[in-house]
Amino acid sequence: MKMSSTLHDTCRQHNALLLDVTDVALKIATSSLTGEPLLSELRDISSKAIHVDIWPARRIELWQAACSLAANKEVSGHSLTNLLNEVLSSAIQQRASDIHFEPGQMAYRIRLRIDGVLQPQPPLPCSVAAQITARLKVLASLDIAEKRLPQDGQFDYTEGKDHVSFRVSTLPCRHGEKLVLRLMQKTTTPLNITALGMPGREAALFHQALTSPQGLILITGPTGSGKTVSLYSALTQLNQVHRNICTVEDPVEIPFNGLNQTQLHVKAGLTYSTLLRALLRQDPDIIMIGEIRDSETAKIAVTAAQTGHLVLSTLHTDSTIGTLTRLEQLNIPREILASSLRLIIAQRLVRKLCPHCRSKSDTPVEHPPLGISVPTIHWQAKGCRHCYGGYYGRTALFEVLSVCGVLKRLITQGSSPEELESVAKDKGMMTLLENGFDAVAQGITSREELERVLGQCND
Ligand SMILES: [Zn+2]
Repeated sequence: MKMSSTLHDTCRQHNALLLDVTDVALKIATSSLTGEPLLSELRDISSKAIHVDIWPARRIELWQAACSLAANKEVSGHSLTNLLNEVLSSAIQQRASDIHFEPGQMAYRIRLRIDGVLQPQPPLPCSVAAQITARLKVLASLDIAEKRLPQDGQFDYTEGKDHVSFRVSTLPCRHGEKLVLRLMQKTTTPLNITALGMPGREAALFHQALTSPQGLILITGPTGSGKTVSLYSALTQLNQVHRNICTVEDPVEIPFNGLNQTQLHVKAGLTYSTLLRALLRQDPDIIMIGEIRDSETAKIAVTAAQTGHLVLSTLHTDSTIGTLTRLEQLNIPREILASSLRLIIAQRLVRKLCPHCRSKSDTPVEHPPLGISVPTIHWQAKGCRHCYGGYYGRTALFEVLSVCGVLKRLITQGSSPEELESVAKDKGMMTLLENGFDAVAQGITSREELERVLGQCND
C-alpha cells in the first residue's frame, strides 16, 4: 500500500501515470521519451521491471483530472449515474468491444477492449464499486442481492444517435464482483464480400464457391477473428427470394431480413444436432451453422453438403490445412471430406498502424530464415492523440484454400498435412503468414502485431 502510493507520487511529480503494478512489473505512461530521471527514481523505490507507454500529454491530463475528481468527490446517486454514463459513452466513442469493471484492493479498475487489446482507463475509488455494480445489475434486470453466483443479462443504451445493446456478465472475484459488458454490434459497415478487404484472388475464390449448388464452406479462426462478419457477408450475397436460407446460431448475432434464423436453446433440448435434423425437413437450399463443435454436427454438415445443399459454418482452427485435420478428428472420413468440402478460409484480425504517427524505420530487420519472402523494410508508430500505442482500427488477414481437383484426390489418398499444404501453395495459396508479411511491407501493420496475433514467426 505504502510503496504503491510512493510510486504514484513519484510518477505524478514527473507528470507521468502509474497504470498498473503487479508482483514483477510496473506499467507507467509518460508523454516524452526522456523519462530517465523518473525511471531511475522508480528503480530506487522498486526493483520491478518497468514498462513505459508513450501517451499524448492531453490524455495524461485527462486521466489525472478524472482521478482527482473521483478521489475528491463524495459520489452521490446522481453523479454516479453521470459517472457510469461517461464510461459507457467513452467506450462507444472509442469503438470498444468490451468494458471490464474490476474491483481491486487499491482501486476500481476499468479497462476497454479496443481493436482486440485491453486499454486501461482512469481508475475509480473502491467506494463506488458496489454502487456501479448495483446500478448495472438493475439495468440488466439481474438479481442485486445475488453476489455469489455468476449472472448474465442485457440492457439497451442510447447515446445521441447511437442505440447500443450491452450484454452484461458478472463473476464473483476475490475483491468483489467483476462485470464485463459486451457491446453488441449494430453493424454500420455494409456486410458484403468486397468490404472484407480480401485480396483479389481470395475474393474471387470466395465468390466462386458461393455460386456452387452444394458443398461445405468453412470459415475458421480463433474467437474474435472476424469469422461472423465474413459469414454474414456471404449470406448477404446469397440472400435472394428464390432461396430458402436457414441458420442455426448460438446466439443469433445479426438479425437479418429474409433468413430463417433459429437460436440454440440447450436447456430446452435444442442443440445444433436436433435443430439441424428438424431444419433439413424444412426444404432448405442454404444452411448456415453458427459453429461446428462436435462430431455429430460435423457429420450432419457434411451429409447436407453432399445432398444438394450449400452449407456454411465456422470452426476453431488455426489454418486451412489444420481444418482438415480437425475434421478428421471429428470422425469425418477423408473421402467424405474430399467430396463435401468446397472452400476453407482461415482468418485473423490485426491492428492497423495509425496513419497519423506511423513512419518507416531506418533500422534494417533481422529475420531468421523462413523459406518465404519477408519484408526488409518495416514501419513503426509511437502513438499519438488519434490512436492507442500507434494502432487504430483493424484489418483481416486471409488464407483461402479451394478444395478441388488434385487436392480432393490427395485428401482421399490420405496425404499428410505438409504435402497438402505444399500442393495448395503451388496452386497459389498464400498462407496467413505470407499475407501478414505483405501487410507489414506495406506499412498496414507491424511485425510485432503480426507476432502477437499469429505467434512467433519462426516456424
Ligand atoms: Zn497515432
